[in-house]
Amino acid sequence: MSKLIFERSVEGRGCSLLPESPFERTELPARLCRGKAPRLPQITENDLCRHYTSLAQRSFGVNCGFYPLGSCTMKYNPKVNEVAASLEGFTEVHPYQPAYAVQGCLEVLDTAERYLCKITGMDAVTFQPAAGAHGEYTGLLLIKAYHHHRGEDHRNKIIVPDSAHGTNPASATMAGYAVVSIPSAPDGCVDLDALRAAAGPDTAGIMLTNPNTVGLFDRNILEITKIVHDAGGLCYYDGANLNAVMGIARPGDMGFDVVHLNLHKTFSTPHGGGGPGSGAVGCKELLTPFLPAGQVEKTGEGYRFAAPGECSIGRVKSFYGNFLVVVRALCYLLMLGCEGIPAAAQGAVLNANYMMKKLSSTYDIPYPGPCMHEFVMSLQSLKDDCSVSAMDIAKGLLDRGIHPPTMYFPLIVHEALMVEPTETESRETLNEAIDAFLALYEEAKENPQKLHEAPITTPVGRPDEVKAARSPVLRHRFGEE
Ligand SMILES: *Cc1c(COP(=O)(O)O)cnc(C)c1O
Repeated sequence: MSKLIFERSVEGRGCSLLPESPFERTELPARLCRGKAPRLPQITENDLCRHYTSLAQRSFGVNCGFYPLGSCTMKYNPKVNEVAASLEGFTEVHPYQPAYAVQGCLEVLDTAERYLCKITGMDAVTFQPAAGAHGEYTGLLLIKAYHHHRGEDHRNKIIVPDSAHGTNPASATMAGYAVVSIPSAPDGCVDLDALRAAAGPDTAGIMLTNPNTVGLFDRNILEITKIVHDAGGLCYYDGANLNAVMGIARPGDMGFDVVHLNLHKTFSTPHGGGGPGSGAVGCKELLTPFLPAGQVEKTGEGYRFAAPGECSIGRVKSFYGNFLVVVRALCYLLMLGCEGIPAAAQGAVLNANYMMKKLSSTYDIPYPGPCMHEFVMSLQSLKDDCSVSAMDIAKGLLDRGIHPPTMYFPLIVHEALMVEPTETESRETLNEAIDAFLALYEEAKENPQKLHEAPITTPVGRPDEVKAARSPVLRHRFGEE
């Protein structure tokens, strides 16, 4: 491994380019001063550049290669989005500026809201939530406020199918609900009898991830929302991955009352490594009185922020959410337009089905039949036959320059690999990836040991993942311990 920046440090070397300040020195109170100088590495500008460049080269992103990370929609993010998001009129504004001075920003929020209402079939959208799970939490607070307002606080259960994204039960718990988990039927869709048995006078609502985590569009979706509504509950649509659905079908038309979208997945804003994201939440009119503050309205004199409703759940984030993420998403929406949005969805579904079909004669596909934007393979039989696990295949992909699919998720599939190619990949790239998967399968049969040792080309091979999570080393120790 190359030397750390601290190991390259040479006393007295560095880029002390700052001139003497012409201003009078102000001495800080002693209690605010550090006792000794910070231990900064002293290196040349050239070495500094190399340090950051080599760090950048160690990370893998959509701009480096194929990244079929299921449930994450790692699609190409058009660079024009970045140009729009770096315009001074967007970057140099202050959240306390009066509305008349930020009309352009308000128009962005209003326009993005209108487009997303159209795509989801909802009546209003808030951009406050900073991520998908945050959107779920916000949507559930809307549901909770709705029931509270009607004197139905006894509705304290949220139904969550076992094919839901893992954040769904977590958000419901965070919002103070008891989670009722219901199983999937053998076809991978919600078990309607189990749903009927679970829905009742204590049901606050259902959270449905659709397409679900095995990549299927639930064919009984209208029946599902009817069962929950008949029991007096509301219906929450986890639309984090709207990539197979946008421009084709609308959660609002399927009977859902509230939905969140991950702008940082479907609407092509960069993500991974912690954000910033945007978990925009759309809702039907019956929930709009409870929306957080920060909704934009258009009047005869231009745009302004509407006063929050009396029953508003309050703020879930400071100001208006991650505004520049909304700028990027709007840029993407405008670029694709009414024709491009459904075409992107169709491309995502086509690419996923193409890969699934080509791999299905070799790998087990537990839920065959047309998938949506992603599909799940099970490597259980490969593991039984030659002790090569989903993890080993994933590590083998790294040596072939491909980011692994999502592993060991969803939990209802053993030795799962969840593949989401996205619409932005060419057939050639898909073919290369298919060849890599097939070659790894052969390798698993012929030389399993080699796969147990993969990856051999990455800066780090196989870290102890539990140790890395439980006791992460996040700074240089200077020989302390
Ligand atoms: C990614 C994802 C989420 C969570 O979104 P975050 O932005 O990571 O909080 C929720 N549901 C589904 C289906 C997702 O794919």
